[in-house]
Amino acid sequence: MRILLLGAGGKVGSALGPRLLEAGNDVTPVERGAEWDPAGHDAAVDFTRPDAVRGNVERCLGAGVPCVAGTTGLGPADLAAFDALARERGVACFVAPNFALGAVLMMRFAAEAARHLPRAEIVELHHEAKLDAPSGTARATAQALPGNVPIHSVRLPGLVAHQEVLLGGEGQLLTIRHDTFSREAFVPGVLLALERLPSLPAGLTVGLESLM
Ligand code: NAP
Repeated sequence: MRILLLGAGGKVGSALGPRLLEAGNDVTPVERGAEWDPAGHDAAVDFTRPDAVRGNVERCLGAGVPCVAGTTGLGPADLAAFDALARERGVACFVAPNFALGAVLMMRFAAEAARHLPRAEIVELHHEAKLDAPSGTARATAQALPGNVPIHSVRLPGLVAHQEVLLGGEGQLLTIRHDTFSREAFVPGVLLALERLPSLPAGLTVGLESLM
């Protein structure tokens, strides 16, 4: 595939670029401020910043280029706009709050556990440069659980991306925890999304769980 990689110089982008090449793709790396043109690409991948992702994805979809977006901070209005534009242009747009397969399993196991232990709280811990809080993964996990689940956000040096779901019952506590130690954790999920992109329906698909 010919892939436009938006945010290629970032922490995720720099882990992703070499792996996309290794997998046999042609990659056009784009860093902030660079001129770029979606034309001629089979797909675009966006790991940039919350204030850049909407414009980037709309530009690609508008040019008829399907997108995979991992940048967090997208709200319901952004997602609705992506869905409408992707349908109009007859291409797929895939967005996931977390591309780590283990994190998706954590969400699935937490939803299963909450059927029996419905009192839950979430602690999400990330590196201090993360711009948004709570994390997209924590918000998606909370939505999959019953009730109004409190989320606690920690931003400290030394952390990458970590989350605990604590489920309390009488005399017991179940903790479901996922740790991302390096950005390599997101690569298999992005490769899976790119592989599935051509067979996804036109419009928006959200969440890696819909591909697993
Ligand atoms: P990062 O290290 O700050 O990388 C972002 C990169 O994008 C930087 O090189 C930045 O350049 C560049 N950039 C900013 N605006 C751009 C634009 N308009 N066009 C092209 N490039 C642009 O951040 P990161 O840790 O890689 O994370 C990127 C995003 O992905 C964040 O929103 C993060 O929360 C999210 N994320 C999602 C997942 C997931 O699984 N869904 C996993 C990890 C991270 P400058 O440095 O010059 O601004």
